[in-house]
Amino acid sequence: MSIRFDGRVAIVTGAGNGLGRTHALALAGRGAKVVVNDLGGARDGSGRSSAAAEEVVALIREQGGEAIANGANVASPEEVSAMVAEAMDAWGRVDILVNNAGILRDKSFAKMELEDFRAVMEVHVMGAVHCCKAVWEIMRQQQYGRIVMTSSSSGLYGNFGQANYGAAKMALVGLMNTLHLEGAKYGIHTNTLAPTAATRMTEDIIPDPRVLDLMTPESVTAGLLVLCCEQARSRQILCAGAGGYAQARIYETDGIYLAPEQQTPENVLAGWEELSSSQGQKELLVGGEQTMKFVAKAAAALGISLG
Ligand code: NAD
Repeated sequence: MSIRFDGRVAIVTGAGNGLGRTHALALAGRGAKVVVNDLGGARDGSGRSSAAAEEVVALIREQGGEAIANGANVASPEEVSAMVAEAMDAWGRVDILVNNAGILRDKSFAKMELEDFRAVMEVHVMGAVHCCKAVWEIMRQQQYGRIVMTSSSSGLYGNFGQANYGAAKMALVGLMNTLHLEGAKYGIHTNTLAPTAATRMTEDIIPDPRVLDLMTPESVTAGLLVLCCEQARSRQILCAGAGGYAQARIYETDGIYLAPEQQTPENVLAGWEELSSSQGQKELLVGGEQTMKFVAKAAAALGISLG
C-alpha cells in the first residue's frame, strides 16, 4: 500500500533546513500541498530570513508540487494565525500540522541564564501550542487532522547541557497526550516523533563524519510520514534515526498499598524495590486511571465495595 497525501494540506514549521525540509519535500512529493514555514534564524534562534523556506518551495515547485513559503515566528501567536489564514485562503483546509521548528541554547544548568530557558520553551512548547490552537477548530470542523510534535531523546531521557531543551521536548509529550484524548472524536490524531539525524543541530555533537552519513534526515522523514498519514494511530512516540525505528512508552508500576497507620516515609522507602517492580506494570490511557488504581487498592484492603 502506497502512502499518499493527495488533496491534503500540510503545514511544516521550521521547514527551511534539516528535518523540516525533508519532511516538507517528502509530503509534497507524495501529493500534499505544503506551507513551508521557517523563521530563517541561526541555530540559537537569532536573526531572520525567508531564503531557506523559499528555496524549499522552489524545489517543490520544480518537482511539480504545490507549496507556499511562510516566515512566521512560531513563538508569535499573531504570526501563526496569519500563517494558518494564508493556508486557508490558498487551499481551504489544513489536514496535517508538523510542529518541527526548534532552537538550541545549550549550557549546563548552573551556567544557563533564565532567558535561554525561556527562549527554548517559547519556540518548542509555545510554538507548538500556537500552531495546534490555530488549526484545532479547523480540524474539528473537518473531522480530520494529523498533528505531530517533535520531541527528542533529550526530553525523554535527559541530556547534559540541555535542561531547557529537555524540559521543552518532554512538555510536548504532555501536550500530545491530552490533544490525543480531546481530538479522538473529531478524527484528530496526535503523535510524537523523537528523531536523531545529522543536521546543523547535531553537527558538533557527533564529529565522526561516517556516523553523520548514516543519520540521514530522510530516514527520519519516512517515519514522520507514517505519523501523519490517514492510517496513523494516535498518541504514539516514534523514535527514528539512521534507519532505526522504535517506540517509546511510559509505564506505571502496579505499586504497593500501605494502610493508614503504615503511611510513613520509612515504609515507602522500605517498599521501594517492590513498588518499582515491573511485574504488572501498565501503560495508563488517561490520568484518572492512576487515581482509580490507588483507590481500588485502598478500598480492597479496607474491605470497602466501590461498586
Ligand atoms: P535545524 O536547526 O536544522 O532546523 C530547525 C529549523 O527551525 C530551522 O530552519 C530554523 O530556522 C527553524 N526555526 C527556529 N526557530 C523558529 C521559529 N521561532 N519559527 C519558525 N521556524 C523556526 O534543526 P533540525 O535538527 O532539523 O531539528 C528539527 C526538529 O527536530 C527540532 O524541533 C529539533 O529540536 C528536533 N530534533 C532534532 C534532532 C536531530 O538529531 N537533528 C534530535 C532530536 C530532536
